[in-house]
Amino acid sequence: MAAKQKAPSYHYDAIVIGTGPGGEGVAMQLAKAGKKVAVVERYDAVGGGCTHWGTIPSKALRHSVSRLIEYNSSPLFADNHLSRSLTFSEIMRHASGVVNSQTRLRSSFYDRNRVTLFHGEASFIDAHTLQTVREDGSKDIVTAGQIALATGSRPYTPKDIDFNHPRIYNSDTILSLKHDPKSIIIYGAGVIGSEYASIFRGLGVKVDLVNMRDRLLSFLDTEISDALSYHLWNNGVLIRHNETYSSVETTDDSVILNLESGKRMRADCLLFANGRTGNTDKLKLENIGLQADSRGQLKVNENYQTDVENVYAVGDVIGYPSLASAAYNQGRFAAEAMLAGKTHASLVADIPSGIYTIPEISSVGKTEQELTAAKVPYEVGRAQFKHLARAQIASTQTGSLKILFHRETKEILGIHCFGERASEIVHIGQAIMQQKGEGNTIDYFVNTTFNYPTMAEAYRVAAINGLNRIF
Ligand SMILES: Cc1cc2nc3c(=O)[nH]c(=O)nc-3n(C[C@H](O)[C@H](O)[C@H](O)COP(=O)(O)OP(=O)(O)OC[C@H]3O[C@@H](n4cnc5c(N)ncnc54)[C@H](O)[C@@H]3O)c2cc1C
Repeated sequence: MAAKQKAPSYHYDAIVIGTGPGGEGVAMQLAKAGKKVAVVERYDAVGGGCTHWGTIPSKALRHSVSRLIEYNSSPLFADNHLSRSLTFSEIMRHASGVVNSQTRLRSSFYDRNRVTLFHGEASFIDAHTLQTVREDGSKDIVTAGQIALATGSRPYTPKDIDFNHPRIYNSDTILSLKHDPKSIIIYGAGVIGSEYASIFRGLGVKVDLVNMRDRLLSFLDTEISDALSYHLWNNGVLIRHNETYSSVETTDDSVILNLESGKRMRADCLLFANGRTGNTDKLKLENIGLQADSRGQLKVNENYQTDVENVYAVGDVIGYPSLASAAYNQGRFAAEAMLAGKTHASLVADIPSGIYTIPEISSVGKTEQELTAAKVPYEVGRAQFKHLARAQIASTQTGSLKILFHRETKEILGIHCFGERASEIVHIGQAIMQQKGEGNTIDYFVNTTFNYPTMAEAYRVAAINGLNRIF
């Protein structure tokens, strides 16, 4: 009988599990510092959920739909009486192209920085040893002084729903939607559910959005969340608040969602977008005495170190804020701690939120509700996009910018933007908010000279509007 073949073994200074933004941040920083680094990725390409199933494809889909809406509503093309339409497969082609470009770019980072890539599912043998198993069952043993977990998260999929049914999707599998639904139920009206509601409605699909809470995206400033509700409603999305599903029935080509309130809803397909789970179940954490919480997430200290000294974790697997934007930074901060014993940086206190609904939303800092509850004497400055020359030129008149500032010190406390390019526009205010001393007051926007015509002019208009309220 042939002797059982031993898995080949390799040693590195550090191993990173996962090639999303968190893992990439750790690996690149360590490699640039001269460390011998390996990454393990179970998918066949680098980039993580961010590139393949999350941020990038959803933003590319949204971009196509937004351009379609812009074309169909532009007075420039109104004369030919032809409205254009696109199918999900058509906009998916553009998204796949972007995913491929991003994957090529991100793989070149690993090549250029001589980071070794192992393809396979990684799990712990002990705190310094990992086993990686490829799809064909072949294995490698990889050891390292330090290990960083950047395994991300996946959609929560309750057991009583058959996600193998061809008409039931989660936010990963929706990207493989092959038919063109006339109607869709989106269960979960968080950021992902609301973004996909905008995408499908923009394609002309009848959308029912089921929200478990009493308002959309309740962490937002109330005015902004109301504006989103209004625009989704005005575009034909049916939102059902305070609802929870009781069961899901299927036929070959439809799905029926039964709600605890007794309602029954039918559509061509269901997108279940309610919650995410950290990817820790396959890591055999028990072999190093580490335990994830009930949501599959790991606890870390300010240096992104878990309870096991040489094991670090970043990105979605450690929970809040669960954003690609933050995961890149966390990766770099963790690498600094792995190199120097501790990190000197931490995420900014006010992380901006970018929500790519149609219209787009972005906020940073406090909401009016938070300031009111804290009894902060604030004032509001507001600009409506419809009054800006650039918005009129670009026909992007829907939207507004709101600046909240302290009425005595004039310190900027919050920026809330609703409308096209909101997630870019908010950064101007964020940069000023983060200035030290008196540099972070609303006066900046009145005293500076902005390019004209630009959307940035909204800051000047809002600042003047707000300062006029001070007496
Ligand atoms: C639909 C959607 C839209 C989003 N939009 C935005 C947005 O607009 N802006 C934003 O900032 N964020 C957005 N996010 C969130 C963002 O995608 C995540 O916060 C980000 O991807 C987290 O990065 P990460 O590095 O922690 O994990 P990921 O990007 O998920 O990467 C984890 C990687 O680890 C690999 N892996 C897991 N377990 C193992 C294992 N045992 N062995 C080997 N490899 C393993 C996985 O295959 C994956 O490639 C969105 C998410 C979704 C789902």
